[in-house]
Amino acid sequence: MHSSVIGKIEKAHRYAREPERISLRRLEAGFQGDNDSYEVVLGADGWSCSCHSFHSLHGCAHILALQDLLGRILPENARLSGLFEPAGVGAG
Ligand SMILES: [Zn+2]
Repeated sequence: MHSSVIGKIEKAHRYAREPERISLRRLEAGFQGDNDSYEVVLGADGWSCSCHSFHSLHGCAHILALQDLLGRILPENARLSGLFEPAGVGAG
């Protein structure tokens, strides 16, 4: 393999261990819940979800799960849902 390709692969592995380099700005996801499937969107206005909980509580388990899963690659303002603030936010 060409040495420049090897260098790019090594750099990619290093980047993958430094998720703070990445800022995910838009996302559309299908989410299979226990009873139904939902559409979750992260856009310029923040999160939305097609489930009932999001519309009544402005937050839901689907968004919380994606926040947990995506962690540090989410922009700062997308790490919180309207439902409640996860423990540890702002602690590092
Ligand atoms: Zn939801």
